[in-house]
Amino acid sequence: MLIATVLFKLYYMQGIQIIDKTFIPYITNEELEQAIKRLATIVHNDYKGEIPVFIGVLNGVIIFMSDFLKQYKGDCEISFLQMKSYEGTQTTGNVKTLMDISMDITGRHIVLMEDIVDTGNTLYALHQLISRKKVKSIRTATLLYKPDAYKKDLNIDYIGMHIPDKFVVGFGLDYEGLGRNLPDIYQLKD
Ligand code: 5GP
Repeated sequence: MLIATVLFKLYYMQGIQIIDKTFIPYITNEELEQAIKRLATIVHNDYKGEIPVFIGVLNGVIIFMSDFLKQYKGDCEISFLQMKSYEGTQTTGNVKTLMDISMDITGRHIVLMEDIVDTGNTLYALHQLISRKKVKSIRTATLLYKPDAYKKDLNIDYIGMHIPDKFVVGFGLDYEGLGRNLPDIYQLKD
């Protein structure tokens, strides 16, 4: 049993291959779940007596948002939109809205939910888009934040974890469309 555990750990530490890139284990599912639980508690405390609308950015946010919602103990509503700024492992700097939200959010308290904030271009574009819709308030939340890559002044109200400026996959995050279903997060090997 011990040998099997050691062999599994060695195999796991070698990393995984996605197309032409190798990724090494970086953040475990347990660590992610703890960070999400902590975020859900803080957000709930801030919105006591309110019904916030959590707006997620597809596709990457899907796993974070579903786990966050399971931990959020108050009433809330959800909506999604789709934006795209990354090609492969690089940001293009050009944010496209592929799908806008369908619900009426006039007069509502909004929390914008991102899987990862890198340059901040996506979050900024999303903030601009939503603030035109006459909402009551907007706050921002992200599971992962790369402070060294961030280029915007916009405040991020809720942050799950700070990470270095390196490309990661797993837990909703992809490389060329793959890797989103990995339960842990992996970092691109140098
Ligand atoms: P930003 O606009 O802040 O530069 O990037 C935000 C979007 O780019 C994220 O929602 C995500 O789709 C993608 N992105 C940024 N950094 C990473 C990363 O390290 N890994 C993956 N898979 N996507 C990333």
